[in-house]
Amino acid sequence: MKWKQQIVDMKAYQPGKPMEEVKKEFGLEEVVKLASNENPYGFSPKVKALLASDHSDHAIYPDGYAQILRTAVAKHLNVNETQLLFGNGSDDLIAIVTRALLYPGVNTVMATPSFSQYRHNAEVEGAEVREVPLAKGKHDLAAMLDEIDENTSVVWVCNPNNPTGTIVSDAELQDFLKKVPKEVLVVLDEAYYEYVNSPDYKDTLSYVNEYPNVIILRTFSKAYGLASFRVGYGIAQEEVISKLDPVRAPFNNTILSQKVATVALADQAFIEECKEKNEIGKKQFEQFCEKHGLNYYPSQTNFILFEVKADSDVVFKEMMQRGFIIRSGNALGISDYIRVTIGTEEQNDKFLSLLEEVLVDQGVFA
Ligand SMILES: *Cc1c(COP(=O)(O)O)cnc(C)c1O
Repeated sequence: MKWKQQIVDMKAYQPGKPMEEVKKEFGLEEVVKLASNENPYGFSPKVKALLASDHSDHAIYPDGYAQILRTAVAKHLNVNETQLLFGNGSDDLIAIVTRALLYPGVNTVMATPSFSQYRHNAEVEGAEVREVPLAKGKHDLAAMLDEIDENTSVVWVCNPNNPTGTIVSDAELQDFLKKVPKEVLVVLDEAYYEYVNSPDYKDTLSYVNEYPNVIILRTFSKAYGLASFRVGYGIAQEEVISKLDPVRAPFNNTILSQKVATVALADQAFIEECKEKNEIGKKQFEQFCEKHGLNYYPSQTNFILFEVKADSDVVFKEMMQRGFIIRSGNALGISDYIRVTIGTEEQNDKFLSLLEEVLVDQGVFA
C-alpha cells in the first residue's frame, strides 16, 4: 500500500486501561478513573430525565447543521449562529482545522507539553511541528512568537493548558494576538473554560470579534460531563467558519448528542455547583502537596499536575493496584509528576491517603 510516509511508524492514541479490565486484573470491587478529566459528578439531572424519556428515531440521519443546538449555543454566547462550528468532540475540530490548513511545507507552532492531538494531527498531514517548551508550566508566548515565520499556518494556545492546568493571562494573550500575523490562525483551546476562576482570564470571546484569525474551541466533554456524547464547538468570525465547514464530515454529531448538549447547556446551575465542588477538591490536593513539600502547578481546571519525587510510572502502577487510574507524567513529558483529575471529596480523600502510603513505600517521606 502507498501509505503517507509520515504515518508508517505512527502509533494510535493509547487510552488508559478500561475500568472493567483493571477490576478483573487486580481483584478490585471498585475502580475510580481520575485519568481523563471527566466530570466526577456526571451530568445534569435534566439530561438524565431526557435520556429516560427520549424517543428519537435513530434510523434517520441527524441534522447535520445541528440547528437546535446551534441556536441554543449562539444565544448562550451571544454570537451569530454562523460563527459556530460543531464537532464530534473538540478532537474533531482540531482535526478539521489541521486538515484545512496544514500540509507538507507549512509549519505549526505549539507549546510542549500540551494537548497531544495538535501534534498528532499535524504529523498526519505532514506539516512541520514547532514545539516551544513551557516556561514554569505556562505557554511561553514570546518564544512562540519567535517561531512564527512566513510558512506558519496555525498556532495552538491551550488555555488552560493540559497537562499543567495553567492559564496565560489576558494581558499576555492580548499582547500576543496583536503581534501574530493576521494570516496565521490562532486556536484557543478552552476545553476547561467552565472551571476557570482567575480574574486574569477575561472572557476571550471578545477576541473573536477583534481578530479575524482567532478560533476558540470548547467542549461538552469536561464540565458538562458528556464526554461519551462527543460534542465540541468552535467559535470564530463567519469567514473562518465558512472555510472550515466544508472540511467537516456531514453528520458529525448524533441526534441524541445534539439533544443532550442542548439540555445540558440550559442547566448552568449544575455547572456552577460542579465548579464550586471542584474548588474544594483542588484545595485537598494543594494541601496534600504543601504538607509533603511536593511542587504543583496552580490549576484552573478539574485536574492537577503535581510532583511525586518518585518514578511516576511506578506511582501510576501502585495506585492502579489500589483502584485509582491516573496519568503518569512520563506519558505526558513531565517525569516524577502525576496528573490527577479532581474527583469528589470522598474520592480525593481516599486517593490521597493511598498515595501517601505509596510515597512512604517509595521512600519519598517517612
Ligand atoms: C479533553 C480535551 C479535548 C478534547 O475534548 P473532546 O471534546 O472530548 O474531544 C481538547 N482539548 C483539551 C485541552 C482537552 O483536555
